[in-house]
Amino acid sequence: MISIENALQKITQQQVGLRKKEVSLENSIGYWLADTIRAPFDLPAFDNSAMDGYAVCGLQETYEIIGEVAAGDTGNKTLVEGKAIRIFTGGKVPENTSAVVMQEKTEVDGNTLKVLMELKANQNVRPKGGELSNGQEVFQQGQHITAATVGLIGSLGFDQVSVFKKPSIRLISTGNELVPPGKPLSSGQIYESNSYAIVSALKKYDFECAEKQQIKDNYNQIKEGIADYLAKSDVLLLSGGISVGDYDYVKEALEENGVEEVFYKIAQKPGKPLYFGRKGHKFVFALPGNPASSLTCFYIYVLPLLQQMSGANAAGLPRIKTPLTHSFELKGDRPAFLKARLEASEVSILDGQSSSMIHSMALANALVLLEPGIYNESDNVTCIIL
Ligand code: AMP
Ligand code: MG
Repeated sequence: MISIENALQKITQQQVGLRKKEVSLENSIGYWLADTIRAPFDLPAFDNSAMDGYAVCGLQETYEIIGEVAAGDTGNKTLVEGKAIRIFTGGKVPENTSAVVMQEKTEVDGNTLKVLMELKANQNVRPKGGELSNGQEVFQQGQHITAATVGLIGSLGFDQVSVFKKPSIRLISTGNELVPPGKPLSSGQIYESNSYAIVSALKKYDFECAEKQQIKDNYNQIKEGIADYLAKSDVLLLSGGISVGDYDYVKEALEENGVEEVFYKIAQKPGKPLYFGRKGHKFVFALPGNPASSLTCFYIYVLPLLQQMSGANAAGLPRIKTPLTHSFELKGDRPAFLKARLEASEVSILDGQSSSMIHSMALANALVLLEPGIYNESDNVTCIIL
C-alpha cells in the first residue's frame, strides 16, 4: 500500500508521448495547444471607437459635423480642429481625433454638435495594439482551449489550431450483479451506474470514452475483454473486480495481458484497491467498484494522467485551503477524500460518506482531503474543487 502523494508522483512521473494534430477553430474547444500562439498583428489593428457618438478634433464645446464612420467602413477620414464625425462602436476613428464623445452626452442641431460634458484626450478611443501587440505571445503551449480562447484565436484570424491529440479511452465494468439502467432488475442485482458516471466525468473534463462494455465476473471473458480494448486504446479503465474477493479477477487478467503494475492499493478512503499499470505506451487504471470510490479515484488519479497525455500545462483539479464550517473527526488510520460543499469560501463536509454511496457526491462540489484526526470549526483544510 502506498501513500496518496506517492501514487500521484508515480502518475506524474510517467513518460507520455505527445502527438500533434490540426483541428478547425470550431472544433478546437477542450483541446490543449500544441504550439505557442503569437499575435500576427496589433489587436485592435486600428484605433476604433468604444461608443456610438462623435469623433472630435480639439477639446472644446461645439463642433461642426462633417461626416460619418460606421463599423466596417474601410476609408480614411481626417478631422481638423473644431470638426466632428458621427461614429459608431467599432468604427475606425478618423485621423487627428482628440476623443470620442458618447452620443448621450451631446445635443445636435443641424450640423452643430454641442458637447454636454468635459472631454478628456483619447476618451472612448480603443487604441491600436491596446490588447495585444504584433508578435506578442498570446498563449503558451499546453494552454487549455476554452470558449474565450477560441474567441481570441479567431479574432487573430486563425481558422486552424495546432493541438495535442487526446488519448483514446475505453471502459470495462465488471460484476455479475450488474444490470444496465432501463432493464428489469431481480433481487440480488443492482443497476450498473459506474460506467455512466465515469463516461460523464470524462465528458465534463473534455475527454471521450470511445467504447464501453460490461463483463461478468468470468476470468476468461475479462481477460479477452482487456486484450481487445487494450489493443485499441491508449488508456483502459476498468471498474470493479480489483479487490480481494473470490470473483475479483481483474488484476490477474491484466497481468496475463502483459500489463505491468505501477502500484496497487493506496492508503486512502475511499478507493483503497486502486490499481495503476502500464503496457508500453498504454495505461490501465482498475477502479474499485464502489461508486464513490471509482469516481473519487477518477478525479484524483485518472484525470491528471489524461491531461498530461493531452499536453496540458497544468494537470489535476484545483486545490485551495479553506476553513471548515464545523468541527469534524476523521477516525481510522487512512486519509480520506470527503464529499463536501464549498460555499462563500467555506467548506462543509456532507453526511453519507460511505464508499457505496453516491448521493453525497452528487450534492458535492468539492472533496476535502483530511488526515485522520480532530478538526475544529474554522480550521483550514485542503479542498479539491470538482
Ligand atoms: P467490487 O469492486 O467489484 O468488489 O464491487 C464493490 C461494490 O461496488 C459492490 O457492492 C458492487 O456491487 C458495486 N459495483 C461494482 N461495479 C459497479 C458498477 N459498475 N455500478 C454500480 N455499482 C458497482
Ligand atoms: Mg465485483
